[in-house]
Amino acid sequence: MRFGKQYLYDLPPNDIIKLGALAQQLQQEAQTSGEQLPPLARLQIGEPIFSTPEHIRLAAIEAIEHEPITYGPPDGWHWLRELLAEKVERVDGYSVTPEHIAVAVGGTGAIQASLTATVSVGDEVLIPDPHWPQYIVQLAACGAIGVPYSLDPENEWLPDVTQLEKLVTSRTRLLIVNSPNNPTGVVISPQLMHDLLNFANRYGLYLLSDECYDQIIFERKHVSPASMLSREEFESGRCICIYSFSKTYAMTGWRLGYIVAGTQLMKTIIHVLDGSYANVSTIIQRAGAAALTGSQECVTEMCGAYHRRRDLAIDVLKSLGRYAYTPQGAFYLLINVSDKMSQSYNVGQFVLDLLKKHNVVVAPGNVFGSMTGKYVRISLAASEEEIERGLRGICEFASSG
Ligand code: PLP
Repeated sequence: MRFGKQYLYDLPPNDIIKLGALAQQLQQEAQTSGEQLPPLARLQIGEPIFSTPEHIRLAAIEAIEHEPITYGPPDGWHWLRELLAEKVERVDGYSVTPEHIAVAVGGTGAIQASLTATVSVGDEVLIPDPHWPQYIVQLAACGAIGVPYSLDPENEWLPDVTQLEKLVTSRTRLLIVNSPNNPTGVVISPQLMHDLLNFANRYGLYLLSDECYDQIIFERKHVSPASMLSREEFESGRCICIYSFSKTYAMTGWRLGYIVAGTQLMKTIIHVLDGSYANVSTIIQRAGAAALTGSQECVTEMCGAYHRRRDLAIDVLKSLGRYAYTPQGAFYLLINVSDKMSQSYNVGQFVLDLLKKHNVVVAPGNVFGSMTGKYVRISLAASEEEIERGLRGICEFASSG
């Protein structure tokens, strides 16, 4: 193969990014031709509408002005990892030391480094279906195979351990669990998390717990599998927890996340980080420290705003007869549009036509896996006005002949 690894080359392009670009292009074309479009409702991407709080931005400027921006340790500066250990105890309910933590380039970089450290070519990884689409690219980069386990809408979009048992083979190495979940918004209960942890232990699997939305919770309590382990069990175990500043502090573009794992496993992960990008910039790490030491009021406010948007979305869906379930966290909602689907009309076409007809951009469910081929996902991280108008457009279009 002349153009790199075939299995990477063959992956489909990111439809969500493509749709955003198409929406932008349609706006520009309309502007040029003088055509009047309704205002665009951008509900396709998980991008907070809030700006990064000022004290965080100022800390980065301060670092640029006053700090030597040198190479740093691959796992991040000790001062940040100390603060992260405090946050993990405060928010995620378990106690670790800075040695259990490594700073990474966003949750994305944290997951990629953890997968690279644990799975090899041909290994099988159990991933939720539906799932965050990038897991597929990340596994492909390791040459590993994603084996989907269904999150069934009939079972509140929750994993079923009996089904997982049936999917285990001699090649299975790792189980990915994501709560609060993208794209469903569902939060796993403590009992189910306990069962998933036991399942992973029973088969000697790594458990990668993607907790990037740990602080965006409306109902239920976020529970980390690590909080169910003693320090010794965590230390010797195979549990890897992933966190991010992106959503909690509206810091998507800053690219700051972190990994929490036992120190021996962390040694392997740090080698990967060292070889991938050496270290996250000190400027960004200082911003992260400011986020953690500053008032957490901004987190409460943003989470409250997402909660209100969630409630608004549910009210609109109920009033239009399309309500199916209530997400308890993250900022996503899946909407069933199966009544519009047919042999010759799929969800990819649906989102394109919705954009052209109503100027509403949503993510097509097929990008998240096979369980959501007749769904669209909206992000609640948009304005209330966009959410309401967008939902009305989706429902009207889905119900039209
Ligand atoms: N995990 C999930 C489930 C996500 O939805 C995202 C981003 O949307 C990430 C991880 C990675 O986020 P980031 O790299 O911005 O921290």
